[in-house]
Amino acid sequence: MLNAHYETLLEKLKTITDVEKALAVLDWDRETNMPEQGIAGRTRQISTLSEIAHRMFTGNELGDLLAAAENEQQDAPYDSDEASMLRNVRRDYDEQALFTPEFVRRRSEITGAAGAAWAACRQKNDFAGFRPHLEAAVALAQETAEIYGYTDEKYDALLDKYERGMKTADVRRIFDEVKTQTVPLIQAIAEHQGAIDDSVLAQDFPVAAQRAMCHYAAQSLGYDFSRGHLGEVHHPFSTSFGRNDVRITTRFAPEYAVSSLFATMHEAGHAMYEQGIAEALDGTPVGKGTSSGIHESQSRLFENQVGRSLGYWQAHFEELQRHFPSQLQGVSVEQFYRAINKVQPSLIRVEADELTYNMHIILRFELEQALINSDLKVADLPAAWREKMQQLLGVMPETDSKGVLQDIHWSMAAFGYFPTYTLGNLYAAQFMAAARQQDARIESDLARGDTGTLLAWLRDNIHRHGSKFDAPELCQRATGETLSAEPFVHYVRQKFGALYGLHNVG
Ligand code: ZN
Repeated sequence: MLNAHYETLLEKLKTITDVEKALAVLDWDRETNMPEQGIAGRTRQISTLSEIAHRMFTGNELGDLLAAAENEQQDAPYDSDEASMLRNVRRDYDEQALFTPEFVRRRSEITGAAGAAWAACRQKNDFAGFRPHLEAAVALAQETAEIYGYTDEKYDALLDKYERGMKTADVRRIFDEVKTQTVPLIQAIAEHQGAIDDSVLAQDFPVAAQRAMCHYAAQSLGYDFSRGHLGEVHHPFSTSFGRNDVRITTRFAPEYAVSSLFATMHEAGHAMYEQGIAEALDGTPVGKGTSSGIHESQSRLFENQVGRSLGYWQAHFEELQRHFPSQLQGVSVEQFYRAINKVQPSLIRVEADELTYNMHIILRFELEQALINSDLKVADLPAAWREKMQQLLGVMPETDSKGVLQDIHWSMAAFGYFPTYTLGNLYAAQFMAAARQQDARIESDLARGDTGTLLAWLRDNIHRHGSKFDAPELCQRATGETLSAEPFVHYVRQKFGALYGLHNVG
């Protein structure tokens, strides 16, 4: 048998995936349906299953099988499923071995305590109370980087966990370009405040109608409900139990219909990625999105590039009006399009518009590097935060709750995660530009609100590959270029220049 070892390995890996997917179902159920009293029991069930999955993956038996399969498949072509799978599994396997059980236990203790402290301190606006926990989280991340290893910069080791193959120096160069181009645009828009009136969005929108509209919107983008489900939560997310069952969630605020709508489009973008992975990869270690940045590119692409475009709404605004007849009576599609694209520098990342959002990320990216390189003390972080907010967005938080304490990420020692949000925006713009260039029908179809040809391009160039290729390589294959800020900069200058009647900004 030519593939005997590989097949045996694959079977074993699929069994591990089964355990992980069972775990994901427990998690989904906890987030969407569970009675409060069940949480303790569920937390235990989840940690039992994660331990089982971890033990199955790290044992000697799997290591031996992996070595035998590698030996057997030496001649498999680089981009074959076999070679890609083995590359990925080998990296994960070797990485696991780096971290001792003692370290893993300590990490979960530190982040567990920091998470609880963060939630309490954010509520009380108490940075001093959170400070020792954050110091421990920074030290933990520094230790992680040393264990993981790096050649150029310490931060590379942390970034690699979320965006494999991406270097800090490249991200910095690209983000600097985004910053240089965006800051003048934001300033010019600030001088035209009042050009866009979005008061139409702040009305009473019945939740039942929102629910129906969210369903319609997800379907209109190409999300397959025969392999999906829309649930309701406080913090929207999507989850995959395999390509034939990928679920999305949204949150309903009665006074702000577009938040549920765009959250749904966002999660549908994530979910369509998972629904589009090749059948042959389903249930295997590469049967999932390749990186946080590429995943985010798919959600942002559908939420912003498509969902906040005039073409989409020219085709679908009538449907929206049907759901909200009194609220949208006499509102034109152009008025609505302008309202959903209003730019407003603000303090909170998750509420930021498409243009100012990246400044929130660049701020965090710069501060993170300074913390990890010990160029900035945790004690000086709130002041550094305020200074950068002023520089980048021209606003300053009065409290740490609305500043440095607003996000959960650092309490989880998840340094290196934030940049993937902006990488997602940049990848989305680059994919859109390449798709339009490679298939002329995409432009005209989108102008009619039809995403079919665009989705087909994404399926073919991005989705079906799962995580066979790292993000930089996938980008090169799909667009013929490495990631650059240019397509995004071009996109926002065109879009917001037109919306705000600006000429020759920057
Ligand atoms: Zn997302």
